[in-house]
Amino acid sequence: MTSRAMRAQFTLRRIGRSSCVAGCSRSFASAGVVVGREPLLFTPGPLTTSATVKQAMLVDYGSRDRRFLEACRDVEERLLHIAGVSKETGYECVIMQGCGTMGVEAMLGSVIPRGGKVLIVTNGSYGQRQTIMCRYMGIDFEALSFGDRIAFSVEDVLKELKKGGFTHLSVVHHETTAGVLNPVEELARKVKAQFPNVSILVDSMSGFGGYDLQLKWGIDFAVSSANKCIEGVPGFSYVLCSREALLKTEGNARSLSMDVLDQWKYIQATGQFRYTPPTHAVLAFQQALKEWEAEGGLSGRAARYRENYEALRIEMEAIGFQFYVSEDVRSFLICTFMVPDHPNFDFDSFYQHLSDEGFVIYPGKLASGQSFRIGVIGRLFPNDCRRLADTIRSVCKKMAVPMPLPPPKR
Ligand SMILES: *Cc1c(COP(=O)(O)O)cnc(C)c1O
Repeated sequence: MTSRAMRAQFTLRRIGRSSCVAGCSRSFASAGVVVGREPLLFTPGPLTTSATVKQAMLVDYGSRDRRFLEACRDVEERLLHIAGVSKETGYECVIMQGCGTMGVEAMLGSVIPRGGKVLIVTNGSYGQRQTIMCRYMGIDFEALSFGDRIAFSVEDVLKELKKGGFTHLSVVHHETTAGVLNPVEELARKVKAQFPNVSILVDSMSGFGGYDLQLKWGIDFAVSSANKCIEGVPGFSYVLCSREALLKTEGNARSLSMDVLDQWKYIQATGQFRYTPPTHAVLAFQQALKEWEAEGGLSGRAARYRENYEALRIEMEAIGFQFYVSEDVRSFLICTFMVPDHPNFDFDSFYQHLSDEGFVIYPGKLASGQSFRIGVIGRLFPNDCRRLADTIRSVCKKMAVPMPLPPPKR
């Protein structure tokens, strides 16, 4: 047996032992989790990943290792394929180290030239975050804001662009704040037809891989990250764009480490990242992409998420919870529920009880009203959603909140 194989076996043995009930009871118990069971993450990310995605990380490759660099090229090609394009047809995928927010900031800061002006369409906190980024980087912008429980209006965006002066338009595909799906295809097609000189930037962090996104709709730059609907682990984001649009951004970047064009050029020249690459996260992501494809690609992944959503919706409505977002614009990725108006319903203890049972949910961050979010993305199945709902029932009972629940405060 080679030393590498021995090391791999040893690693697996160690993991096997430490994940047995006896071996890990202390660390898991201290994390407030059911002994011997990992928590299930019903959150917007990071998400629950498959065992095989986690296993793909059990190897330490150097940053110049051929096998790692091949994995990078494979990942780039698979991502472009999902977006309906390829390198052969003139498109590029640039992997950027860091979380999704850094990917959005890298895109805005690298693409919009000095003297340019971006119209940022917001209907939640991720759109709003882009306005903060532009303030930090001194990028001229205007925000067109919509409420966080509605999708943006294509007509209103076109009207705003008609006023003139905008070089770029930036929108969010799936607004994760409340779980609203925006009409990006319709907008991109109409903007390209009416304002061919306006470049379109899309934050598709939580949409990509769960909802369709095609660069051919007229999108110039799109960004997503490893740990959302493709179900990889956190560590990097990626910018998808046409090569022509990318090459036009020379000299625009406001940050060295987040310069998308410089990153691409260096990878083109050497095959390598400029600075320490997220090696393990890329290997996990390559496996996650294979699993996305094995599940049937977009239609398979979306079908499971929709089943999760339906399972959760039926149970939660039976308990008496009310959705914040109306059905016509509500996504099947993130559910936002209003907190019921009852003196015994305390969100912090609700959250803690669920967490103690191994179910991690997420507090809401709406402009108004107390809410919480349940994400049904990640390696979760309808049965997990029903188990979560059963646990929610028993937590409500424990808190002495009557069911069906009273309506929320509005
Ligand atoms: C998650 C998310 C982000 C930010 O990603 P982080 O990895 O949390 O920094 C940005 N935009 C949208 C729409 C998201 O869902």
